[in-house]
Amino acid sequence: MAEAERAARERMVEVQLRGRDITDERVLKVMGDVPRHHFVPEDLRHQAYADGPVRLDKGQTISQPYIVALMAQLLELEGEEAVLEIGTGSGYQAAVLSRLAARVYSLERISELAVQASEKLRKLGYENVEVLERDGSKGLPEHAPYSAIVVTAAAPEPPEPLKEQLALEGRLVVPVGSQDGQTLERWRKGKGGALSQERIAPVAFVPLMGEHGWKTDHRPFWAR
Ligand code: SAH
Repeated sequence: MAEAERAARERMVEVQLRGRDITDERVLKVMGDVPRHHFVPEDLRHQAYADGPVRLDKGQTISQPYIVALMAQLLELEGEEAVLEIGTGSGYQAAVLSRLAARVYSLERISELAVQASEKLRKLGYENVEVLERDGSKGLPEHAPYSAIVVTAAAPEPPEPLKEQLALEGRLVVPVGSQDGQTLERWRKGKGGALSQERIAPVAFVPLMGEHGWKTDHRPFWAR
């Protein structure tokens, strides 16, 4: 069984990642190692290695493997960093990041998801990840600054606290736009503290709800 899943994962890496523009060898290796099928809901396991997002409980989604890999690659991790993730969801992306950096703090506003993800990560041996139930739009000042911050939900604007909590030369990757569609952006803090922005690709994420995110969920009821 584990062999079939490993083979599916290898195909996913070759076709969906290497076949596109994922070139960071560390990211490719980790995407080939982390068992995505353990993070998708049991009745949707057949979708675990497909080229698309998978629905989670509570109207949330685990991103398409390519998007997870792209965001990880954009963070330019070398192994020693502290990373902040906003939107734990299933915990899959946190698991991927934990194998690319020294420490991952992952924030989730929905209690049930935070608890489930935390238990799963512990059970699977991802010990350098800490999941906290928080409004992640405010970041996590206690452990700031971070070399890399990734927001896995759609923000109307890059949240100010996250820009502040970025280390000098740090990278912030965030989908910015409306609740219907966003542009994946990378913000970089220079040596002197100035921020610069790059627009990477069109994406579609569930909304970042909270003080520095959206106040209301505008999605139709059937999409929540
Ligand atoms: N990275 C996740 C997928 C994230 S889906 C994975 O690999 O599975 C987006 C998640 O962001 C959802 O779980 C949603 O509840 C969470 N979220 C939305 N707004 C948030 C906020 N302000 N703080 C923390 N989490 C938030």
